Amino acid sequence: MEDCLFCKIVKGEINSTKIYEDDFVYAFADIAPQAPFHAVIVPKEHIKSADEINAENSFLVAKIFEAVAIIAKENNLEKGYRVVNNCGEEGGQTVGHLHFHLLARRNLQWPPG
Ligand code: 5GP
Ligand code: ZN
Repeated sequence: MEDCLFCKIVKGEINSTKIYEDDFVYAFADIAPQAPFHAVIVPKEHIKSADEINAENSFLVAKIFEAVAIIAKENNLEKGYRVVNNCGEEGGQTVGHLHFHLLARRNLQWPPG
């Protein structure tokens, strides 16, 4: 999608630090990390938010969670991690392309606030 920041990152039009890539998924280091390890994992296909997941595209969410397990193993996150999706304005979503944050290497509090 034109004018989508994460579509541009997927296409390489905006530089990012790649953490993982396959045919469906791209993961990169967050520019403003909220934990010592902070990956942003996106489907290569543009989906606006979790609110737009449906029977046709939900396999991409499964692909993202397959990537989570691979990224965790490759980066020795055996002590644990958190996967977060922010959806919509009150959910804290600032980029309108579905993405999951993978946060690790610090003690993550619950509830998150
Ligand atoms: P959201 O707030 O929508 O859940 O998450 C968007 C995330 O994208 C934020 O954590 C923000 O730091 C990250 N981000 C925004 N712009 C860029 C960018 O240009 N490059 C990278 N690597 N991350 C970005
Ligand atoms: Zn997009």
